[in-house]
Amino acid sequence: MPTDSHPLDALLAALRYASAHQYARLNSIRNLSTMVKTAIEQSKGRVSAPVLTLMQQELQRIDSTDETERRNSVLTIGKAIAAEVKNAVPAVVAPVAKPAAKPVAAKLPAAKVSEPVEASPAKKKRAEKAAKKKTTDDENAEAVARVMSIAPMTGPLAMPLKQLGIRLNPRLVGSLNRKGIAKIGDILFMLPRVYEDRRELKKIAQAESGSRATFIAEVLKIEESFGRGRRQFRAILGDSSGSIAAVHFQAGPWLKAKYPIGKKLVVSGEVRQSLRGWEIAHPEVEPADDVDVSPIHFNRIVPVYPGFERHEQRSLREVAFNIAERFAASIDESLPDALIEKLTLPSLAKAVKAIHFPEGTASLEELNSHMSEAHQRLAFDELFFLQLGIALKRNGIQKTTGIAFKVTDDLVNATLKLLPFTPTGAQRRVISQLAIDMAKPEPMHRLVQGDVGSGKTAVAMVAAALAVKNGYQVAIMAPTEILAEQHYRNFTNWFGPQGVDVALITGTGTAKSKRDQRGAVSDGRYKVAVGTHALLEGSVEFDRLGLVVVDEQHRFGVMQRHTLMSKGTRPDVLVMTATPIPRTLAMTLYGDLDVSVIDELPPGRTPIETKVFTGKARVKAQDAVKAELAKGHQAYVVYPLVEESEKLDLTDATNGAEQWQAAFPDAKVGLLHGRMSAEEKDSVMTKFRKRELHILVSTTVIEVGVDVPNASVMLIEHAERFGLSQLHQLRGRVGRGAAKSYCFLIAGHAQSEVARERLHVMEKSADGFFIAERDLEIRGPGEFLGTRQSGMPELAVANLVRDQDLLSLAQAEAK
Ligand code: ADP
Ligand code: MG
Repeated sequence: MPTDSHPLDALLAALRYASAHQYARLNSIRNLSTMVKTAIEQSKGRVSAPVLTLMQQELQRIDSTDETERRNSVLTIGKAIAAEVKNAVPAVVAPVAKPAAKPVAAKLPAAKVSEPVEASPAKKKRAEKAAKKKTTDDENAEAVARVMSIAPMTGPLAMPLKQLGIRLNPRLVGSLNRKGIAKIGDILFMLPRVYEDRRELKKIAQAESGSRATFIAEVLKIEESFGRGRRQFRAILGDSSGSIAAVHFQAGPWLKAKYPIGKKLVVSGEVRQSLRGWEIAHPEVEPADDVDVSPIHFNRIVPVYPGFERHEQRSLREVAFNIAERFAASIDESLPDALIEKLTLPSLAKAVKAIHFPEGTASLEELNSHMSEAHQRLAFDELFFLQLGIALKRNGIQKTTGIAFKVTDDLVNATLKLLPFTPTGAQRRVISQLAIDMAKPEPMHRLVQGDVGSGKTAVAMVAAALAVKNGYQVAIMAPTEILAEQHYRNFTNWFGPQGVDVALITGTGTAKSKRDQRGAVSDGRYKVAVGTHALLEGSVEFDRLGLVVVDEQHRFGVMQRHTLMSKGTRPDVLVMTATPIPRTLAMTLYGDLDVSVIDELPPGRTPIETKVFTGKARVKAQDAVKAELAKGHQAYVVYPLVEESEKLDLTDATNGAEQWQAAFPDAKVGLLHGRMSAEEKDSVMTKFRKRELHILVSTTVIEVGVDVPNASVMLIEHAERFGLSQLHQLRGRVGRGAAKSYCFLIAGHAQSEVARERLHVMEKSADGFFIAERDLEIRGPGEFLGTRQSGMPELAVANLVRDQDLLSLAQAEAK
């Protein structure tokens, strides 16, 4: 971006990004309020007072958790800025006609990390010329154009589907309504899930198990049966090469009507070989009459859309085709011409059209892996605006002035001496990075990443001590009560003798004790406040908050971090995570943070032996647990969280506890799960810590941070249901003492080869980063980080593992 652009330009770009996605992914540019704040600060004097006031007002709700609020706020600001920038333009400059995008044969050039891609000399000259030609007026004109696309409710893209002038299948209309798809633009920006190659219809015998196929076949006969309490409808279809059963797990006369005996049909879907022979479940079925003539459904690669039933695909495809033909061309270009030319990208309009209906020569593989030119263009768009947002946030943060703590080497060394152990080299290095940050007048924003057990707490304690010695308060937020209490114990042990009082702020306790604790924090008697989410509550106020520590950052959203920060005046911020986030992801997720890594474990740890057991072999694992208990050690048994049903969860763990007690009559078995009150949880943990319990059966509540060195074995049930990084974190609960430790992963025997392969990664590696990379590869970033809460941008097209080159390119260009 040119540096002399309008101060609101970058904000516009971010808002435009939101609007281009119909606001659906507003949370991909989280923390809009910081952007708006920055924009306000930078445009003082250049933007009229009423607009500034309005922006200031909108700060209240722009990061609201309510999507509609957020949406309205973006619209309000967008409109106000639009008018503002328009007023700044002396004369409206007619938009320059865009040159037709050149067809690009090759994929986007692979970028060198953090270096803009070098275009060919001729192209470079052209781009330079184009860039130079931009006068200030052009600049503004461009801004106006962008603003216009901010209001998505204008132009043909905003036209309701109803006005399309084609008859819509009523069932499809129902589905569209349920999904909130109402406008032309909604369809244009809907990304197909996969593509189906219908350029050439296959014979039944050519189909491969596990892959999609389309063939013409005749209905031979109908079979209806009951199996496992379920009704099954099977239509046996045949062609000259063989036969296959179309299977539906429902019944109804409409199914029979769909498969009239003797009728020739076009059938598509995923083919698999079952015990009963070749099957195609819930296929998309169409009459074969128009096979030779339909320009939409056959003789081409067709899109398959996510979230729609197979039987809805055909009519949806018709609508999408109609819309792509008529309206794709009216999509405004989002990138500057010069950039498009420099990178030889197809236009946004062309890319969107090709996303729905690729050209006949397209590669199915590229389409399905999102590597087609059109996909890469859209992916670049996403990453580019994401990076732009991050760059903006960063600028905003570094420009403000925060606290410059007085930090001397002597003070750091004296503080280090208070630790009950000698810090590792990595801890020392990270501590000195923190000390440098804290001494600077700009607010510190640092992420400390360290594998489980690497000793992040000690690092936080040193930072906290520095802040307290400077007369400031410290807030330490942890994701669970168990962890908050553990920190509270550690910090009290450490700070108590120094005469520094520590508060524990959680959601539990009597109203009076809560009030007392909070009062002591707000009047500054307590210098350190350790707590859970409860720290975010309005009733928690600080006298002089100077440092915010967020432990297990990935469990919190960006907004929660900012809520805590707002309780002080630009405090320093230290966030810590044990989730070893691969570099590319860290860059995207935490682009606004500096990153330190603790890449060394404290001495004296013995490696954990990990083994996968399938089916009946679990008995062996149980025997090994017995052997550990006999040595006086303790064991964890973990059951997965069943997302859909907390109840089921509980049953799993509760039954599990009973079974373990029955199998180990001499041992004391405790149960820990998410539905217990904080007191109950705490009492169980205390008993386990005191060795009054020998086996702790739990759901994943023990995942983070829990530290009981005498526990030497962990057995994880249904291990296949966990992400690898999560398994790694769980496993980190053992191997904390001097004894050799074990981790047993129990997998159901119906596991696929891939699932087993995945678990074996755990046997081979103890390196959190390696495991995280593999996990990310296998599961994708969204799932990798779990919840939306993680602040993970939701990218529709781009993939942070696959598109690393593209990400570097987008980053370089955004800068
Ligand atoms: P995590 O990084 O997972 O939060 P913790 O801070 O809980 O790790 O530390 C794990 C364990 O290692 C604790 O029992 C802590 O006392 C111990 N520990 C931390 N640093 C060192 C060190 N330098 N030497 C020995 N033990 C250490
Ligand atoms: Mg920790």
